[in-house]
Amino acid sequence: MKRALITGITGQDGTYLAEHLLSLGYEVHGLVRQTNLESLEGGRTGEVLNQCLLHAISLDSFPGLHRLIKKYKFDECYHLASVSFVGEHLADGFHTMFANISGTHFLLATLQDLQPDCRFYFAGSSEMFGRPTEAPQSEQTPFLPRNPYGISKVTSHHLVRNYRESYGMYCVTGILYNHESPRRRPEFVTRKITRAVARIASGQKYRLELGNLDARRDWGYAPDYVRAMHLMVNQPVPKDYVLATGHLRTVREFCAAAFSQVGLDWQEHVVSVDRFFRQEDAVPLVGDSSLIRAELGWSPTFTFEEMVREMVQHDVALVK
Ligand code: GDP
Repeated sequence: MKRALITGITGQDGTYLAEHLLSLGYEVHGLVRQTNLESLEGGRTGEVLNQCLLHAISLDSFPGLHRLIKKYKFDECYHLASVSFVGEHLADGFHTMFANISGTHFLLATLQDLQPDCRFYFAGSSEMFGRPTEAPQSEQTPFLPRNPYGISKVTSHHLVRNYRESYGMYCVTGILYNHESPRRRPEFVTRKITRAVARIASGQKYRLELGNLDARRDWGYAPDYVRAMHLMVNQPVPKDYVLATGHLRTVREFCAAAFSQVGLDWQEHVVSVDRFFRQEDAVPLVGDSSLIRAELGWSPTFTFEEMVREMVQHDVALVK
């Protein structure tokens, strides 16, 4: 039986990845904060986490991490946890940079020391491209991160690459574009919309306030992306890949698809307000994932419409 460690196991990707690895017969361990341990969600997420061994160790507790990696021999480590505050200002980003970079560095250094054969996956992000000069972006596109979060991801990515090249460890970065699901946190626009759709469909009087309706994203389906993480870790040669659908959709299109699921016209319920407005960049973040499709045979199983349907149905059931 293989044994895997997931940091960020209580998040959207963490629970889907745990579920996937459990289905493949893995023993799954996860890092959680003490406070999370006491307030774990019920439902499917709770069921999944109940089948894992959870360790209440914060990523900045280096002695705690060291003890854990000394105690258990892991075959694979998926480093998904990060501080995800995307502040634009470097001055706001000290905690983001410190926590994300040193967490990754510490994990890699400890594995090199105690378990250099453990395979390591790092959750990179399209934010690493920041304000790109070309679209779509591929593994060859230069990184131009524009905020502390993006910078912390690029720096961590270089650490990962360096541990691979200098120490011969199997470690890889997946550069993932936005990926959504019924487990997406509600501060993201997709889940904000599907939760509102469910409330409005149940008869609540409610106006959904959004920002820029012309904003575009390359939105994939989270369970498809965690499958790719496992694929990337189980190759003969370690390599980084971009994971994306390659299709851009506007917030407006997402609204139309979500409201139509319950037979409503989005235009009667959605308003655009300044408070949530963010300026869109001229060159959009859209990924070219042809390399992983060609080399690992990965492809998404869910279309945009299917993903929106699942998210709306989930939230409608929750309201009921
Ligand atoms: P992220 O910005 O890629 O991390 O993901 P979000 O889901 O937060 O935002 C995706 C896009 O939706 C961005 O371009 C936002 O500008 C746009 N957007 C439009 N209205 C809203 C809103 O009310 N909330 C959020 N979070 N994003 C919005």
